[in-house]
Amino acid sequence: MITVIGSINMDLVVQMGVFPKQGETIFGKDFQTIPGGKGANQAIAAARLGSEVTMIGCVGADSFGDALRTVLQQEHVQTETITSVSAPTGIANILIYNNDNRIIVVPGANYELMPAHIEAAKEIIQKSQMVIMQLEIPTETTAYAIKICKEANVPVLLNPAPAANFDVQWMEDITYITPNETECAEIFGDDVEQILEKYPNKMIVTLGSNGAHYFDGEYPIHVPGYLTKAVDTTGAGDTFNGALAYALVEGQSLDQAVYFANIAASLSVEKFGAQGGMPNLGAVYARMA
Ligand code: ATP
Repeated sequence: MITVIGSINMDLVVQMGVFPKQGETIFGKDFQTIPGGKGANQAIAAARLGSEVTMIGCVGADSFGDALRTVLQQEHVQTETITSVSAPTGIANILIYNNDNRIIVVPGANYELMPAHIEAAKEIIQKSQMVIMQLEIPTETTAYAIKICKEANVPVLLNPAPAANFDVQWMEDITYITPNETECAEIFGDDVEQILEKYPNKMIVTLGSNGAHYFDGEYPIHVPGYLTKAVDTTGAGDTFNGALAYALVEGQSLDQAVYFANIAASLSVEKFGAQGGMPNLGAVYARMA
C-alpha cells in the first residue's frame, strides 16, 4: 500500500490570443478546469498502475473540493484521509498564449494540512510500504511526516518540488529523492555528478526526454528516456514518481524501476493534461515488450 501526502488542486486553464496589459480586459479563447496538484497527480499515477493508494491532503468545503475528491475516488484512491477545511481548494490559474504561460498558484486548503492531520492518519502511514511526498504543503507538515515514517521504518520517496520548500536536513531520513535538473541545481548546486555520488541509490535526477540518472555506489547509471512525440509534458514528473513508487513497492531493482518509470512517463506526455495520459500497467508493459 502506498500513501501520498500532498497537494490537491484544480487547474484553471485559459487559452488566450494575447496577455492583457495592466488594467485591460480582454476575451480569452478557451477555458478548462483540469484536476491537478502534484500530490493528487502522483496518487493517480500509482493507482492507475494498480497500487493500492491512500491520499492525505486538504481541500476546501467547496465545489472544486467535491469534484477533486470524486476524481480521486473514480481512480480508486482512498480519500477518507482528505480533510475539508475552511480555506478554499487550492488552484493554479494557468494562462496560455502561444508556447508561453503565466501561472498563479493559490495553495489555499493545501497549506492547511497540518502535523495534526498526519498524526491522525498515523496508523495508515505506519502500514504503508512507501510514502510519497512533494513540497506543496507546509514545511512543518513534511518534516513531521518524515519523522513518523522514519520511526516506523517506512520508505519515503520525496519529489522536492517546489525546491524552495526543501530542507537539506531531510536527506538522512528519506529513502529516495527525485529532483529534476533545475530543482537539483537549486538545492544542491551545479555539480550534478558529485551530488549523485554523495547520495548513491537515493538521488534520482530526472532529465526530461533524456530519462534519468543516479549513482549506484560504484558507477553513474544513466537510464535513457523513451523517444516519443510529446503533446503535453505537464505531469511527466508526477507520472515518473507514481510509477517509480509502484515499481519499487513491487520489488523491482532501482535500475528496473527507473526504466519502468521512464516508460510510464513517456506514455503520459503523449496526451493532454497531467492526469489524462497516465498509463495503466498493460500500456507500460506493452511499450516495454
Ligand atoms: P513536469 O514538471 O513536466 O511534470 P519534471 O520537470 O518534474 O516534469 P522531467 O525531468 O521533465 O520532470 O520529466 C520526468 C520524466 O518524464 C523524465 O525522467 C522522463 O522519463 C519523462 N519525460 C519527460 N519529458 C519527456 C519527453 N518529451 N519524452 C519522453 N519522456 C519524457
